[in-house]
Amino acid sequence: MTVSIPFDNTFAQLPDVFYTKQSPVAVKAPHLLAFNSELADELNITTDRKDALADVFSGNALPDGADPLAQLYSGHQFGNYNSQLGDGRAILLGEVIDQDGQRRDIQLKGAGRTPYSRGGDGRAWLGPVLREFVVSEAMHALGIPTTRALAAVTTGETVWRESGLPGAVLTRVAKSHLRVGTFQIYAARDQIDALKQLTQYAIARHYPEAKGAMGLLRAVRDAQVELIAGWLSVGFIHGVMNTDNSSIAGETIDYGPCAFMDDYHPQQVFSSIDRMGRYAYSNQPDIGVWNLAQLATALIQQYEDPESVLEEATEIVHSMPGLLDDARLRRFAAKIGISQCQDGDADLVRDLLQQMSDEKCDFTNTFRDLSKGNVSDKISKDWQARWRQRLLSEPDAHRVMKLANPVFIARNHLVEQMISSALEGDLSPFNRLMTTLRHPYEDQPEFADLQKPPEPEQRVQATFC
Ligand code: AMP
Ligand code: MG
Ligand code: MG
Repeated sequence: MTVSIPFDNTFAQLPDVFYTKQSPVAVKAPHLLAFNSELADELNITTDRKDALADVFSGNALPDGADPLAQLYSGHQFGNYNSQLGDGRAILLGEVIDQDGQRRDIQLKGAGRTPYSRGGDGRAWLGPVLREFVVSEAMHALGIPTTRALAAVTTGETVWRESGLPGAVLTRVAKSHLRVGTFQIYAARDQIDALKQLTQYAIARHYPEAKGAMGLLRAVRDAQVELIAGWLSVGFIHGVMNTDNSSIAGETIDYGPCAFMDDYHPQQVFSSIDRMGRYAYSNQPDIGVWNLAQLATALIQQYEDPESVLEEATEIVHSMPGLLDDARLRRFAAKIGISQCQDGDADLVRDLLQQMSDEKCDFTNTFRDLSKGNVSDKISKDWQARWRQRLLSEPDAHRVMKLANPVFIARNHLVEQMISSALEGDLSPFNRLMTTLRHPYEDQPEFADLQKPPEPEQRVQATFC
């Protein structure tokens, strides 16, 4: 084998109630578009033949030690329970232990039909593959937990959506692909032994210090609190926070019609399928709580007497909004230079955001300008005076702000332009975005054009999955 992946699989050793063993379906003409060598090094993946990468990361060649499977799960989609979902187009090749000792899944997305494909074709097209590549790597560089992108390969096949589009496969790396929905399905089916085994597996893999199912629930709550606060702090809208897209490991997962906001608007929605605004920017904390409640509902089924843990489960879920408020305030306080919150700071943040919303200020640039001491003239003199007064007791304010306020985000119009160019065979916008977004907190004058908000005619109104 010319590509070596040191697999160490555990999920595939579990009983087959959790998955179906399934190989990727070979594609016609795999061609490697992007490969994340830094991440490959982290995962101890080596190759002596670059041309073998396309075969492996399209699914055409199975590396030694892979034990491919499609995982089973269910989930609430836009609030409605779908009793069976599962990997309909993703294949887990296996797990590796990375250089930090962390277990990571390696998964091909768009690798062909599985028993869980329902009506779908099991495939992905180039646009969403490149969007996930760019946005997930940008998220990582921002310091927010996320799945990673290892490779993007075109398949030489046509995928039919509204029209014929070039097919592609993304290799995704995750701490795991366990979701809230992975627990829901066994609770809903009254498969209590499976639910217990999954709980033990998740604890051992992610939160070894957690005690029992309620310990797991608490740990997932804390991870989701940090994750969602992180999204809010950079203006990110996930777009499809269904329970099957909510990771037990607390990573951002399943980049579909996601986007970063340009001008600040708390009710902003981009996703073409989110007509009710359920997953709008500022609803994300509430949805996180709702999703945790679904996890709680599933987890308690494994107790002989679920009533006996009801009080504890309720306490864990009910504490989440307060924790989210705290985590969000901590992050936004840092964005205006405050490292130790005091009374009144929440008002200062709220009043700034209110003005930014009224005046349609660019979210990213307004905060970054603050760290340079440039306050937008759309922000009132009164607020500026209160802020400057407050910063007198924050000697480290400028450094704090520079670390909390990125210069570069994966702006929606740039992502769309990158995809259009790639469809015409030009990967230079993709490469340019990737280079810039690796260092989002650094001024990079040669990429100043990527800092600009879109012109009116460049604005993306809706994102599609
Ligand atoms: P998502 O909206 O990406 O979270 O996907 C929801 C469900 O639809 C998951 O079970 C996916 O595996 C499945 N799915 C999405 N796209 C496809 C496709 N092209 N073929 C088969 N299954 C798919
Ligand atoms: Mg999904
Ligand atoms: Mg998806």
